[in-house]
Amino acid sequence: MIEILVVVGLILLLTVLAAAGLMSRGGSRVRPPLVRPTATTPAAAATTDAPVLTEVQEGPVGDQVQRQPALISDVDVPEPSAGRLTRLRSRLAQSQTTMGRGLFTLLSRDTVDEATWEEVEETLLTSDMGLAATNELVARLRTRVRVDGIKDVAELRAVLREELVTSIGRDADRTLKTLPHADRPAVVLVVGVNGTGKTTTCGKLARVLVADGRSVVLGAADTFRAAAADQLQTWGARVGAETVRGPEGGDPASIAFETVKKGIEVKADTVLIDTAGRLHTKSGLMDELGKVKRVVEKHGPVDETLLVLDATTGQNGLVQARMFTELVEVTGIVLTKMDGTAKGGIVVAVQRELGIPVKLIGLGEGPDDLAPFEPEAFADALLGDEAVL
Ligand code: GDP
Repeated sequence: MIEILVVVGLILLLTVLAAAGLMSRGGSRVRPPLVRPTATTPAAAATTDAPVLTEVQEGPVGDQVQRQPALISDVDVPEPSAGRLTRLRSRLAQSQTTMGRGLFTLLSRDTVDEATWEEVEETLLTSDMGLAATNELVARLRTRVRVDGIKDVAELRAVLREELVTSIGRDADRTLKTLPHADRPAVVLVVGVNGTGKTTTCGKLARVLVADGRSVVLGAADTFRAAAADQLQTWGARVGAETVRGPEGGDPASIAFETVKKGIEVKADTVLIDTAGRLHTKSGLMDELGKVKRVVEKHGPVDETLLVLDATTGQNGLVQARMFTELVEVTGIVLTKMDGTAKGGIVVAVQRELGIPVKLIGLGEGPDDLAPFEPEAFADALLGDEAVL
């Protein structure tokens, strides 16, 4: 009996000891540290995954999550459009050297004889001004030199400026019709051969309009070139402009229609529609552009049809340009890549050949390198400063 009691006692003692041991091990167990997410942990990153805000709200008291510093909106504030041509005048350096300075140097000679006038003519023709415009300008300059006489460099510059501006045209209406109507936005169609800078121009133009305080909806109706819609959307997103797009190879006319519809819904000021400019066959292009215009006009007339031309293609571009003017009623020309050419005279030739004013010029690949065209500022840029002559 006593042995039984001893064995039971021992068992009880061992059980108590084992329980005590377990408790003591549990008590010293190291708890995993409480991880506080920091800005670099995924958890914290998730808190800033939402669209970037200009402000981050304070969390509840005691909230240990470390927040990102407030981020400023990533929407660009584009440069105002006024005076851009003057600011970007150095981009016309190639034309300035060959055309502006060429004229200046020739006509500052002590004797301006027949041979000099021939060189003047040559300079203007090389600048792509075209024969008729060149002959007229030379005739006017000859009269000024003969009748008025030119006493000094400042006077020569003034005469050249005045006559160049006359050739470019003072009276043309170069305003862009982008103001909204009572019940719908202004509609701008952008047309031209692919590669001329059409999509880039749409993007830059959206920035010009936003800079001037307008709200814009973009339409990616160039469904032929695979990257065009992405490219346009990226441009639009940078200035907070929505882009309406459809499937690749989809119907451009229906995208154009939907774009204007969206513009009406969101009460946008201006709708800009990028179109495809493939030149497989003239009739295909005619059908497509004609359809885009017809369908868009179910909402109301198109306000502005801009034809984009690459200035570096010079006189060759004019043949294509004429084709477009036969297809749609073009109301303004955009001459792109003026920074890449010495042939500034193309402005005069294009307007003369097509009878349509140049309204905008592209002076580089940067987002704000599109300038409203101003004849005086353009002539000034071509002639440069007297001081550097
Ligand atoms: P699209 O096919 O007519 O839509 O042509 P893109 O808009 O894609 O432009 C074709 C190329 O021309 C791109 O590399 C543009 O960056 C470039 N480009 C457009 N405008 C200008 C400009 O004014 N100056 C220069 N240097 N390049 C330009």
